[in-house]
Amino acid sequence: MPIRKIQKTPSAHSFPLLIKNLLQAPLVSFPDQEIVYRDQFRYNYTTLAKRVSQLANLLKHHGVDAGDTVGVMDWDSHRYLECFFAVPMLGAILHTVNVRLAPEQLLYTINHAEDDVILVNSDFLPLLEAIKDQLKTVKKIILLTDEAQAPATSLDLSGEYEALMSGSSDSFEFDDFDEDAMATLFYTTGTTGLPKGVYFSHRQLVLHTYGLLSTFATYKSLDVNNADVYMPLTPMFHVHAWGVPYMCTMLGNKQVYPGKYEPEMILKLVLGEKVTFSHCVPTIIHMLVSSPVIKDLDLSSWKVIIGGAALPKGLCRAALSHNINITSAYGMSETCPLLTAALIKPGLEDLDMDGQVHYRCRTGMPAPNVLLDIVDPMGNPLPHDGQTTGEVVTRTPWLTQGYFKDPDKSEELWQDGWLHTGDVGFIDPEGYLQITDRIKDVIKTGGEWLSSLELEDIVSQHEAVSEAAVVGIPDEKWGERPLALIVLKEEYAGKTTEQDIKDFFAQFVENGTIPKYSVPDRIDFVAAIPKTSVGKTNKKEIRKQHF
Ligand code: AMP
Repeated sequence: MPIRKIQKTPSAHSFPLLIKNLLQAPLVSFPDQEIVYRDQFRYNYTTLAKRVSQLANLLKHHGVDAGDTVGVMDWDSHRYLECFFAVPMLGAILHTVNVRLAPEQLLYTINHAEDDVILVNSDFLPLLEAIKDQLKTVKKIILLTDEAQAPATSLDLSGEYEALMSGSSDSFEFDDFDEDAMATLFYTTGTTGLPKGVYFSHRQLVLHTYGLLSTFATYKSLDVNNADVYMPLTPMFHVHAWGVPYMCTMLGNKQVYPGKYEPEMILKLVLGEKVTFSHCVPTIIHMLVSSPVIKDLDLSSWKVIIGGAALPKGLCRAALSHNINITSAYGMSETCPLLTAALIKPGLEDLDMDGQVHYRCRTGMPAPNVLLDIVDPMGNPLPHDGQTTGEVVTRTPWLTQGYFKDPDKSEELWQDGWLHTGDVGFIDPEGYLQITDRIKDVIKTGGEWLSSLELEDIVSQHEAVSEAAVVGIPDEKWGERPLALIVLKEEYAGKTTEQDIKDFFAQFVENGTIPKYSVPDRIDFVAAIPKTSVGKTNKKEIRKQHF
């Protein structure tokens, strides 16, 4: 029997999944809820909606139409949130420009995305000034600034955001359109080659919003709901701050935008605004727990989700010792990003510290509506026995359908209808996924594969270690051997030796966690670990510096 499609009476309305509708519920239920920017501005959702309309009028006035692209170069701000809504609601495409890229990569992304208009924070004017003569498609540049006085610039600015907003009407009739319309575009930098553009439709972003929500509803341990006070600590250019601003706006949460990340300001906002829910890469939480400012603060109401990289056990323990409710989640730019979350199943909340750390650092269970598997190089599914490792492949409704204007790379990403993540991991009989490495970072020694993440995880638990990274370096005899880079905590500098670290690894050999040949031959003590544009360990750079 063929399937029977539903009948639609001629007058029935097919409701498209559009970003504009995420903004409706809070306006009815929580119009007075606050949106805060640093210690500078606060306004309510009614004002947010009016400013979204003002921004739409402003952009229209500057020539932005459906199908055009608007680039934004800003810190995490209320203005960025307004762009998250107004730009796609016009049917235009929001390009969240990665302001941490090297100038030539930044130029490449703006030209490749074909940005028509750019909104730029005054802090990033020098970046744009340096490449202005090579911009191919940009017709208008609008300034975003917190200062009363606009800074001097050689750019031909069309005006300053607040001044232009105050001259724009706060009502705008946003049309319905096809839910498959492209809403956002941003670039991911791989280990090689040029940045690749990933893009998401209205439908995908709306479904991702519900995906996040259903993940939080599935497990009690994180319990994120409308009563939470939300503050992103993931740049809004990095996978739309993981899509959480869309979810928190739909829920009508109080939202706090921290601007440029500065430890003192972040902690002041967490305490002063009573922030209860944030997310970030491990580097940010590491920066906070290493800051002397945190020492006597009560952070017991703060839930923080760590993603973008594995959460090392040592860091998890440090955060828990400050009473931060920390757990990890997994995803990537190509996946919008939600794939899994390590939320703790009911009944496991009463575990001791070791048990808590174990569960909170796992890569996690697939979120509702996420299909995950591990496959061999031929694409054959592998057993979920908690040991066999393979490439993680996925299907969900919110995966980029290709790389922007790059058919070859798109087909490499998508093989046989599965998105290939480039990550290696195992799935245990319970269904938990554990990522053991990026395919490119696996250390191949004497025909065996070592997980650099597992070695980092182990050494992160040494009392003297502040941060660590492990990479494979070429070795004539074994192919590759592990090298560990270690940043010591200040009080241990000059006191902890290479042998101390090797002895620590040896304990994990003795208890059967890792084989003997896993112990790094070389331990380099360094002042800092190189980081990528989104604050993650930059293994490509480490290899370059230490080979
Ligand atoms: P990006 O596209 O910059 O967000 O990077 C995505 C990559 O970060 C993934 O493909 C993983 O290699 C890594 N990643 C993200 N979350 C985790 C996690 N929880 N554990 C291990 N690796 C992660």
